[in-house]
Amino acid sequence: MSKLIINVDYDKRCAECGKTGATDSGICLKCITKAIGTKPMKSLQGQAVQKRMNEIIEKARKESKRP
Ligand SMILES: [Zn+2]
Repeated sequence: MSKLIINVDYDKRCAECGKTGATDSGICLKCITKAIGTKPMKSLQGQAVQKRMNEIIEKARKESKRP
């Protein structure tokens, strides 16, 4: 199992929506949940998170297929 640890910085602004409360990845939790979807992200940080999320989802999908 891979763990996902998220730290929220309440002084840091989200690169995606501009609100405070960004995580280590540069975007807020709300935008992270958006990144799991298929709608493309506006910011570079958002796109990076989306790419990583897709990789995690793809890996989980492959692992679940294993006998
Ligand atoms: Zn946001």
